[in-house]
Amino acid sequence: MARTLLDKVWEAHTVRTLPSGQTQLLIGLHLIHEVTTPQAFQMLKELKLKVRMPERTFGTLDHIIPTADQTRPYADPEAEEMAQHMYRNMKDFNLQLFDMSTGKQGIVHVIGPELGLTQPGMTIACGDSHTSTHGAVGAIAFGIGTTQVRDVLATQCLAMAKPKLRQVRVEGALAKGVYAKDVILWIINQLGVKGGVGYAYEYAGPVIEWMTMEERLTVCNMSIEGGARCGYVNPDQTTVDYLRGKLYTPSGAAFDRAVTYWKGVATEPGASFDDVASIDGARIEPVVTWGINPEMSVGVTQSIPSPEAQPEAERPTFREALAHMGFQAGQPIKGARIDVAFVGSCTNGRLSDLRIAAEIAKKGKVAKHVRALIVPGSQQVAKAAEAEGLDEVFRQAGFQWRKAGCSMCLGMNDDKLQGREMSASSSNRNFIGRQGSPTGRTLLMSPAMVAAAAITGTVTDVREILR
Ligand code: SF4
Repeated sequence: MARTLLDKVWEAHTVRTLPSGQTQLLIGLHLIHEVTTPQAFQMLKELKLKVRMPERTFGTLDHIIPTADQTRPYADPEAEEMAQHMYRNMKDFNLQLFDMSTGKQGIVHVIGPELGLTQPGMTIACGDSHTSTHGAVGAIAFGIGTTQVRDVLATQCLAMAKPKLRQVRVEGALAKGVYAKDVILWIINQLGVKGGVGYAYEYAGPVIEWMTMEERLTVCNMSIEGGARCGYVNPDQTTVDYLRGKLYTPSGAAFDRAVTYWKGVATEPGASFDDVASIDGARIEPVVTWGINPEMSVGVTQSIPSPEAQPEAERPTFREALAHMGFQAGQPIKGARIDVAFVGSCTNGRLSDLRIAAEIAKKGKVAKHVRALIVPGSQQVAKAAEAEGLDEVFRQAGFQWRKAGCSMCLGMNDDKLQGREMSASSSNRNFIGRQGSPTGRTLLMSPAMVAAAAITGTVTDVREILR
């Protein structure tokens, strides 16, 4: 019987079935960062346990670090304390840490693929919701909580229930000015923020097959925002070409052997799914969220929907969203005034994202009332962008060019919204308070759309700028 990638990877990593019916699943790669590890390491110390597989455990600093002045000690004492914990724990347990001195530091979901740590057919865990990102290369990757981080550190295993599998097909082709971010925002719009609960998503269809690896990383990154436990794309030649020559991928004959394995884990023709959803890629336009979860979005030419047009149960959330955002039902999203523009995060902080934003930045100057930040996802992304002169393009246009980190994706560092500021953001969450101000407002969109909004000072259809 034809099998899916999920079936094959799950079986290959099953240690045993637990009395609860869950699987004891071996985790091939454990990525860690400073926020969800201090308590986990403390528990290990109290229990006098070692890290079970240090050679499969890699750390970085991303969530709390400042992106302007990284001089130690950090100005924020809490950030400094977390960094110190991370340094101490990584040393005490003899683990590899990619800190600023290595030139390889960055957001955990940017550096994993970039270093070739993330490989097809793996199981991957990390104490961050957006671990689903790594599925882009054909891995099964889960975000986990602090207690599970402890479990993986101590045993290299997780107790997991195997999710059902939905194939999400994106048919046709994308129009100019429509990007991977628009695709995943539209998938979430159509299937809902809870639509993926209990499922893994296998992304397929011509639009996904034609995507670069960086675009696939953007799509898989937001699987969790659609409720899915993880999301993946079957490994293909794009995957192989992306991984060739990376620091942690094998080389020579070992690479060829790895490729045979990688391609062998792909879903076989004729395999069946618990569900299949189809999206017409040609109908997707640049998407902008208008509300307080990533499903609350519209195409940039559309208007904000009315709560009355929603099912009864959803109306209170719609009303709450309109009140928080200060929008009226029926108002066009295009033209909404912004105060802050942010290009970065593990969704859209890669080199191709910065290139697209820079193309738009060349066409104007940041509007006077807008604070605009460009934050590379990793030191390597920053270095490559600077080698191409992208940093200068951004500076000339009035954007701030920052150092690598999570930055304004979440309010755990100095980059925060102030008061009711409205942010055009390439990140992945628009929950109330996510960008650091309890009254701040977030509009999610593609990096191209963020750059366009930065220049005009309002939500803008980037296709008009690209003409
Ligand atoms: S960029 Fe945002 S979502 Fe990604 S790892 Fe950092 S905080 Fe998490």
